[in-house]
Amino acid sequence: MHITYERPTTIGEQIDPAAPAADLDPTGAECAATTYDVGGLEWHCTRRPGHTDDEHRAAFGVHGGGPTGEVGFAWQYEWGGAGHGPSSTDPITTVTVTVSFPSTAWTNEQLPEAIADEIRSVFWECDHDDVTVATTATSTPHPVTG
Ligand SMILES: [Zn+2]
Repeated sequence: MHITYERPTTIGEQIDPAAPAADLDPTGAECAATTYDVGGLEWHCTRRPGHTDDEHRAAFGVHGGGPTGEVGFAWQYEWGGAGHGPSSTDPITTVTVTVSFPSTAWTNEQLPEAIADEIRSVFWECDHDDVTVATTATSTPHPVTG
């Protein structure tokens, strides 16, 4: 995680002209990516969902510790991206995972998709659209039935 903006603590309730635009969605929908600053404070991205550059920005709410609607913290998950041209989303790495288990460990029909979800969870949320996880279940010698 790379911090691209932190609101100076010395300016009180003033508007910081150096702060990035809040880029809020008119409907109030939020990207909702989260991160923690070095002090351990959690920030939620309040930009519109699916913003096209990879800079997440957290604007203050009504009781948010700063001027309402002003960005207090902004971050990216990697160097490059916003301000440095778009980073490539072409896949360059493939990890092969083989999961084997006895029929007694088969928990439900959605197990292959549940395994895929667990694998996706190890990636940053902002990268999920670019991460491909394919799962196929095969059983021998007796196919698992519902
Ligand atoms: Zn965001």
